Amino acid sequence: MDKTRLYPLRFEPIYQYRLWGGRRLASLLSVPLPGDGPIGEAWVLSDRTDHQSQIANGPLKGQTIGQVMKQFPESLMGKLSSRFTRFPLLLKFLDAHEMLSVQVHPSDAHPDLIPAGDTAKTEAWVVVEAEKGSQIYAGLKSSTTPGSLSESLKDGTIAERLVSISPKSGDAVFIPAGTVHTLGNDVVVFEVQQNSDVTYRLYDWGHIDSVTKELRPLQVDQALACIDFGSGNSGLVTPRVETTGPVERERLFDCAAFLLWRVRGQAQFTVGAIAEPHVLVGIEGSGRIMHDGTPYAVGKGDVWLLPAEVGVCAFEPSGEATMLEIAIP
Ligand SMILES: [Zn+2]
Repeated sequence: MDKTRLYPLRFEPIYQYRLWGGRRLASLLSVPLPGDGPIGEAWVLSDRTDHQSQIANGPLKGQTIGQVMKQFPESLMGKLSSRFTRFPLLLKFLDAHEMLSVQVHPSDAHPDLIPAGDTAKTEAWVVVEAEKGSQIYAGLKSSTTPGSLSESLKDGTIAERLVSISPKSGDAVFIPAGTVHTLGNDVVVFEVQQNSDVTYRLYDWGHIDSVTKELRPLQVDQALACIDFGSGNSGLVTPRVETTGPVERERLFDCAAFLLWRVRGQAQFTVGAIAEPHVLVGIEGSGRIMHDGTPYAVGKGDVWLLPAEVGVCAFEPSGEATMLEIAIP
């Protein structure tokens, strides 16, 4: 029997080149960005076969999330251990300097459009930074039909068919699978999503990839097939305030794939839960997680996985801090 006890786990970010990316993640994450090209995504917790997050602290340093999932399923996942063989959420920060492609991810209603071994993908964003001209599109205007959408792709007027949001820092945007969406013009978001990499591109604004010198491929037929034309619950979310003191706790997302709260304040509060894993994300300010008498520092952009075995911990802010806490239903 391996008696290793799990502890709060921090992971090395995996930076990804994207033609639409920028360099803003340099000021958000403590690990320096590679090179000087555009970095669009930092995968901060990923149990993808091709991109495995590596533990950055403690005795398990250097091991991957996949190895820990395999070696310590109960300690890590608690009561969820029988349901998941890989960690079910993929967490990222996105720096969308330019517009991403207009895209859609399939829902479980379209198993034929989900490659073997992958899942549907519902995702959600919490806006970290936005500029005056920043843009989020989430969902189709209600008058849009498959016919009018196809027309707009041909004449380049698709933006007129999309629900437009002018994002500001702190906004919460829900993108259930089947929702047409994109974002860009200098917006930075934290993204929580199902652990899936299935994306169908509808439109790409004529972007030429500076590496391949080519237009990126579109998958219009598959994209049109997965769009939920009746989807009504995408877009800006009104946070549900659960407590106002001693810290403010708001529930931003509550869906079948994830729950996400924002906690803000200066007083000590608890994080984690008994017999299930939680994730804590530093958004503003700093503080520390106390576990077994040991402090684990949480700064802006830091992501900590609290294994089920760790349970409930105290979080001590140093001054005013804003954290996100994520659970798996
Ligand atoms: Zn997406």
